[in-house]
Amino acid sequence: MNITYAALLEQIKAYHPGKYNATRNYTNGAVTNWSPYISRGLLSPVLVMEQLKTKHNKQEWIGFMQQMAWREYFQRVWQQKGNLILQDLKSAQAKVVLEALPIPMSEGNTGIQALDKAIHHLYAHGLMHNHVRMYISMLHSNIFKAAWLPGAKWMYANLLDHDPAANFLSWQWVAGTFSSKQYIANQENINKYTNTKQLGTFLDREYEYLQTSIFDQSDTIQSNHSGKWPDQLDQAFEIDTMAILKNIEKTNQSKIFDKKTVLPNQPFCIYNSFNLDPLWHADESMNRVLLLEPNHFEHLPVTEKVLQFIVDLAITNIPGFQIFVGNFEDLFQHIETISMSDKNITSEKSNAIIYSKEHPTTQHYQGIQEARDWLFPEVNGYYPSFFGYWKKCERYLK
Ligand SMILES: Cc1cc2nc3c(=O)[nH]c(=O)nc-3n(C[C@H](O)[C@H](O)[C@H](O)COP(=O)(O)OP(=O)(O)OC[C@H]3O[C@@H](n4cnc5c(N)ncnc54)[C@H](O)[C@@H]3O)c2cc1C
Repeated sequence: MNITYAALLEQIKAYHPGKYNATRNYTNGAVTNWSPYISRGLLSPVLVMEQLKTKHNKQEWIGFMQQMAWREYFQRVWQQKGNLILQDLKSAQAKVVLEALPIPMSEGNTGIQALDKAIHHLYAHGLMHNHVRMYISMLHSNIFKAAWLPGAKWMYANLLDHDPAANFLSWQWVAGTFSSKQYIANQENINKYTNTKQLGTFLDREYEYLQTSIFDQSDTIQSNHSGKWPDQLDQAFEIDTMAILKNIEKTNQSKIFDKKTVLPNQPFCIYNSFNLDPLWHADESMNRVLLLEPNHFEHLPVTEKVLQFIVDLAITNIPGFQIFVGNFEDLFQHIETISMSDKNITSEKSNAIIYSKEHPTTQHYQGIQEARDWLFPEVNGYYPSFFGYWKKCERYLK
């Protein structure tokens, strides 16, 4: 999935959005796989839409725009609600029987072939189709009745496109804690959209019998279709972030921040896992630092594979950058020391110029925070539902 920015622009130029809306729910539909680049801040949603608009008419791009607006909607909710997106947002999740990730999910052994295949594909490639994400989260939260957060954290950790807003709020939407009802799909629906023909599974029921065929009246699982139904003793999903960061430092040693190579008296551009914009201050002389903060990754862990993907994208697209593994405060101290010695200052603050981009994960950075790209900069604040938000956005559609 590592790619040059130029190659990505070629993909965008060649893409035809006309079939997107009618086919996007099918696993072989006309989806783009651009979310790892959009989520990593390599590709601007504004640039994508500008490109599509120059070649195609509104009827062809509007469905695509609406999905891009879902992404932006989730970003706005995150901006307003902060870490509350990690808790039941509108109402409590109904009837939770398990507080951990069910083993059949983590092992890709649920008994539903299309979903098991998708889980193994996620482990191998860090990608998963949107509709399959919905099926897996509904199986986890609404059929296995596991609390949505451990499942959401597990999926997040393995996705190249991991984004707290899109991920946690989608999980909440499926679990009914950020929507009016839980999302349910049966085997027939899964077969239709994943091009499979599996029959006789525990999901192979009419919708009205789906719940009762799995749970009895006391909410105990009564089906024996799957060998390993969730067990109260299932372990929480855990990732050793500190060990992963150490390995990343080891693997990418030549890129690790070295005070001696800092350009004297030049500003600093701080990149992170949500900002790998190759066009950002591109023509200026800058010290470019990819900041990997242990505090952030302890809070929202990702796998080593995913972290290395971030580093590889930076290596391919951001010339002359260095990696700093540490929290912003540690980097800031280094910058202060370096720039004070450059200017021969001994007592005052150095006034080094530090640029970053505005984002919920950069609020503790010091320096100048520049705006991110928004498709609908005018539509901000909290909207309880996407459709209220979209109605407002439509006014600004050209
Ligand atoms: C349970 C669950 C978890 C999810 N977690 C994430 C996540 O961590 N990061 C993430 O970027 N998306 C997430 N999504 C949204 C969506 O699944 C992905 O954005 C999409 O699958 C990306 O594939 P694509 O680039 O081919 O999208 P396309 O269908 O080609 O769409 C183009 C772009 O529009 C945006 N987009 C499309 N659909 C959605 C959507 N439903 N919600 C938000 N944005 C959308 C994405 O930026 C995507 O790249 C999640 C959805 C669900 C149901």
